[in-house]
Amino acid sequence: MFVKKGTILSGMRPTGALHLGNYFGALENWVKLQNDYDCYFFVADWHALTTGYEDTTQIKNNINDLVIDWISAGLDPDKCNIFLQSSIREHAELHLLFSMTTPLSWLLRCPTYKDQLNQLKDKNITTYGFLGYPCLQASDILIYKAGFVPVGEDQLPHLELTREIARRFNHIFSEVFPEPEAILTKAKVLPGIDGRKMSKSYDNTIALSDSPQDVINKVKLMVTDPARIRKDDPGHPDVCTVFSFHKVFNEGEVAEIEEMCKGGKIGCVQCKKNLANKMTEYLEPIYERRQEVLKKPDLIKEIIHKGNENARKVAQKTMEDVRRAMKIDYM
Ligand code: SF4
Repeated sequence: MFVKKGTILSGMRPTGALHLGNYFGALENWVKLQNDYDCYFFVADWHALTTGYEDTTQIKNNINDLVIDWISAGLDPDKCNIFLQSSIREHAELHLLFSMTTPLSWLLRCPTYKDQLNQLKDKNITTYGFLGYPCLQASDILIYKAGFVPVGEDQLPHLELTREIARRFNHIFSEVFPEPEAILTKAKVLPGIDGRKMSKSYDNTIALSDSPQDVINKVKLMVTDPARIRKDDPGHPDVCTVFSFHKVFNEGEVAEIEEMCKGGKIGCVQCKKNLANKMTEYLEPIYERRQEVLKKPDLIKEIIHKGNENARKVAQKTMEDVRRAMKIDYM
């Protein structure tokens, strides 16, 4: 019998349609990991509140859309557990208990804390919940006793904090939690169609839900090497957005395109047509799966319900271990 290599936990906030940057940054990797690991993928709706507690009207729809994106991308509910954070109340209980044991200085020195306070100046996030969200994150991971967490390099300090929270708990009480290790995700980086970072706030994204025609239209709008006026002008692929996309969607022809562009032997219109073909070919199965999902109005609810049941069993068992270790299982 095939034995999976361990337990993985990862989540995303329900903040709207995923774009290709999100797909290549994490989701593509999740789809591979579900075959080899016992995976728990959760919609982090409580985390969405840490920076967006004032307007909760979109969360419900965003949860649905996020899971549609996941299934379209290839997550298979028969291979992994897909669940909703707020449905498993045990996360909140463990968060509370970790809040008791985590020194304030650990949270205050967390690098993203000050960064985000500066970046999100238009929101009032000088709240207890925002400061304490690494404790909630630690609860999310440790409640499944996850041995591995897929992360980008920028998230390593957060995972280290989770490991410290686990270590401190184990030291004060008894060995309940493993110290999860990082599975470093080598994210393929895609710029937005205007060449800046791909971001909804710049309105320069290609959404995972875009139709093939949308993709073709957006490729036409991509910025290229501004120094290239005529077809036979030598180009600089390094500064061209289209070329960055070729590197991801058309690896086999990258060297040839680079040479032709530098030698002025290919026009940008033809180069874009080639890219649009490769992209629509790659994205077609994702688009098709989405059409199938959309035909079944209750499917997403059923998937989350089943994932919740599995997740809850594990979380409840862990909380029994935690209460016993802390000697607070008196009732
Ligand atoms: S030929 Fe292709 S790689 Fe070169 S500048 Fe035009 S679109 Fe970019």
